[in-house]
Amino acid sequence: MNTTLKPWMAAILAGWAMCNAVPAQAALKVLACEPEWGALAQALGGDLVEVAVATTALQDPHQIQAKPSLIARARNAELVVCTGAELEIGWLPVLLQQSGNPRIQPGQPGHFMAADSVHKLDVPTQLDRSQGDVHAAGNPHIQTDPRNIAAVAVALGRRLQQVDAPHAAQYAQRQAEFSARLQQAMQGWAAKAAPLKGMAVVSQHKAFVYLYDWLGLKEVAVLEPKPGVEPSAAYLQQVLTGLKSAAPRMVIHAAYQDAKPSEWLSRQAHLPVVKLPFTVGGNETAKDLFGLFDDTVARLLAAGAAP
Ligand SMILES: [Zn+2]
Repeated sequence: MNTTLKPWMAAILAGWAMCNAVPAQAALKVLACEPEWGALAQALGGDLVEVAVATTALQDPHQIQAKPSLIARARNAELVVCTGAELEIGWLPVLLQQSGNPRIQPGQPGHFMAADSVHKLDVPTQLDRSQGDVHAAGNPHIQTDPRNIAAVAVALGRRLQQVDAPHAAQYAQRQAEFSARLQQAMQGWAAKAAPLKGMAVVSQHKAFVYLYDWLGLKEVAVLEPKPGVEPSAAYLQQVLTGLKSAAPRMVIHAAYQDAKPSEWLSRQAHLPVVKLPFTVGGNETAKDLFGLFDDTVARLLAAGAAP
């Protein structure tokens, strides 16, 4: 019997031996509150991180139940990456408390709030509690402007270097590469979106102020009477009446929202409805942060070009 090891066999055995000799390095456990931060952490961490995301693009990020499965994920997380600015005020404090995990509590390196790195819009000058708690710290939907993603990428890159110091050089390199790619893509989006500048639009929820600020769109009405409050028929009628002189070109809602108010206005005012992905995973094209803005700009342009 021929016992000579064939070269291909030797290669397999060598590979197998190597796998056993070098145990897989434990990846940094990241828990992201929303898909955009999960995508960013993954882009900046690659194989060095293991990312779980608390919400999907089709869930309302203002209102999530801190279910046992989510608490279990928070329990062993080494870094939480959330929006902050009170977006998760209804569920994140409970989740952090129930996790019993000291590493991810406020003030710890394992607690990262994206909104701390950006200039916030819609910050109320006077806090009127009758308006509810929603958006009391400024508008939290910062992910709709890629300039904000760029700022958060720098801050999150630094934080990853801090919480996983042995891999600091790799995080720094990945962040530099991501930021360069994003800057280049942003030039392309801005150029494509130029025809949208100054266009009047209606929003269902105050979810896109950063997007409008970036592209120069003008929000002439919001269908919700207060953030998170469904408009009544009477309120919608009032908005419609007020729109006569504003000549909006489209009505915009996020993928996670019930489109009924937008569809009502669309029928009454003969406007196209634009369903924006809002975050990564909001539709099939918005597979990552680049796809998110590719798709957002394309949908706005398509609606803006409608007669
Ligand atoms: Zn909101």
